[in-house]
Amino acid sequence: MGRRTGFALLVLLLIGVGALRAEDSVDSSTTETVRVFPDNPLPGNTLQIVTRNQVAVRFEEHDFPSFPIATGEWRALVPLSALMHPREYPLEVLSGPNTWTIPLRVAPRRFGLQRISLSAGRAALEATPTEEEAIGSALRTLSPEQFWQLPFRRPSGGRISSGFGLRRTYNGVLEQNYYHRGYDFAAPQGAGVIAPAAGRVVLVGTTQRGFRLHGNTLVLDHGQGVTSIYIHLSRILVRRGEMVKAGQRIALVGSSGRATGAHLHWGIYAHGVAIDPADWLAGRICCRASGNSSAAAAESAS
Ligand SMILES: [Zn+2]
Repeated sequence: MGRRTGFALLVLLLIGVGALRAEDSVDSSTTETVRVFPDNPLPGNTLQIVTRNQVAVRFEEHDFPSFPIATGEWRALVPLSALMHPREYPLEVLSGPNTWTIPLRVAPRRFGLQRISLSAGRAALEATPTEEEAIGSALRTLSPEQFWQLPFRRPSGGRISSGFGLRRTYNGVLEQNYYHRGYDFAAPQGAGVIAPAAGRVVLVGTTQRGFRLHGNTLVLDHGQGVTSIYIHLSRILVRRGEMVKAGQRIALVGSSGRATGAHLHWGIYAHGVAIDPADWLAGRICCRASGNSSAAAAESAS
């Protein structure tokens, strides 16, 4: 694969000179330690920016918040789309009047091409505005708590039949701006689907309510901008607003919506952008092996 496992730390001690304010007259410079994981980011990775203080991270014209993960440790998650071009990008760390710019080199990554044949009727199926809006907003859910613990579990016991990032042709026509936003698990109709990590149910969508393309759909909010989606389900076993535990059975595999057969499509998102589940299944997310560190940090501060 050519990918390095584990993380070498990229530690940057940044000195920013902010706008001089009255209370800063003694020392107008501020230091911040910024650690960026992984050290050799690829399209699809979840970028993690760890700082000593609360900051915002600006990347590709989007601002990403940081959340406390331990005493004196804050983390922002920045999704790298599978469609990113390999080159150097400016990553800006914003803290009060200070802005630090870090050059971030995104290395090239190859994704496969998958050819899919659908009957004319199925190929013509489009997402309804109802499902697009509901799914889009559910996947952008932002809760300050961290519900998850690493590593994420596989939601299905089936083998992975389609990996993350694949480009697709439908009946010979390449889908533009498309990449496979998750994993497909080969599993029979009615097989169980479990929650890969703790979270809150933020969307239950059904074919009857207009989820024509995705079929019966479930979205979990794992907190701090991380969500996961389950589509083409035959049954959903949880209700909107419910908290689920890691390993809890949440749904049954099906072939509802535009599916070529019974399977589970599962995706993980950070701030609404699909990222490679491999980082989460392998626990390659800095910096704690267990969750609820934000709660621990809040406690120790009080
Ligand atoms: Zn899929």
